[in-house]
Amino acid sequence: MTKPLFDKIALIGIGLIGGSIALAARRGGLATRIVAATRSEETAATANRLKLVDHCGTDLAAACEDADLVIVCTPVGACGEAARTIAPRLKPGCIVSDVGSVKQAVVDAMKPHLPAGVHFVPAHPVAGTENSGPEAGFAELFDGRWTILTPLPDSDPAAVDKLETFWKALGSLTQRLDPADHDRILAITSHLPHLIAYAIVGTADDLAGHLNSEVLRFAAGGFRDFTRIAASDPTMWRDVFMNNREAVLETLGRFQEDLFYLQRAIRWGEGDKLFELFTRTREIRRALIHLNQA
Ligand code: NAP
Repeated sequence: MTKPLFDKIALIGIGLIGGSIALAARRGGLATRIVAATRSEETAATANRLKLVDHCGTDLAAACEDADLVIVCTPVGACGEAARTIAPRLKPGCIVSDVGSVKQAVVDAMKPHLPAGVHFVPAHPVAGTENSGPEAGFAELFDGRWTILTPLPDSDPAAVDKLETFWKALGSLTQRLDPADHDRILAITSHLPHLIAYAIVGTADDLAGHLNSEVLRFAAGGFRDFTRIAASDPTMWRDVFMNNREAVLETLGRFQEDLFYLQRAIRWGEGDKLFELFTRTREIRRALIHLNQA
């Protein structure tokens, strides 16, 4: 039997992403021992009942004792405080990573707390669902999906390679990016679509008030898809927007210009402009299916 990649893995936070990492790591035989720590007794009890890990407690620092890999799986806004709490118990040579949907702000929040001799390699699995909490985790979440690693200029190359091997073994495809580039790309591919979904469902709900709920009763395909996205975790998404402010505002500005272009085309009856855009976007959808990411 081959030796597991890591002796001990510690997950700080055990919701959808932490739980899925635990299950996928166990499926792949990637660690001798997997432990977790979370904020609440209730989540810890659920993680233990579901046997997601060998043990889940509420002492974040204690969980990291002797760990070879620590992954912070909390909302982005809690990563800095988690790093500060666990720092004194991190073993020299340990790899510390995270899964945050924003990278530069997480790097800025975590890095100052991490002691020398610990290898910090931030990462973001671009895979998820609108569900959260330990019961939402499943082993197949990362299969065939991208995980973006955003190593820092001083990240240890061997640690980066090892974390990349880990994510591949969890089922992911991997890509390395600069943290700021990651944030700009995700602003348009993930953050803005969520913002639009939150806005459109809110607008429809306000309208429903005036129209005696008819709007929500007749919710059809497109709107239903938006409601699924708009059911995503409020804490997680508040933190994303508070921590990727610049890139989101820049992208939102461009998007508003494009919306005005469409508004004008509709007002002036310029159907050709609409047709041209809708044809181009249809091709994008087909290309996406071709890339197997739809
Ligand atoms: P989740 O299901 O809500 O789980 C969050 C975990 O973090 C829970 O264990 C929670 O503990 C803990 N936590 C929350 N606030 C904390 C705090 N202040 N201090 C310590 N622990 C805290 O969230 P998730 O969906 O797994 O997301 C986790 C991270 O993954 C986020 O940074 C998110 O940006 C990123 N991500 C999410 C997705 C997605 O689609 N959901 C995809 C990719 C990356 P308690 O339950 O005990 O309070």
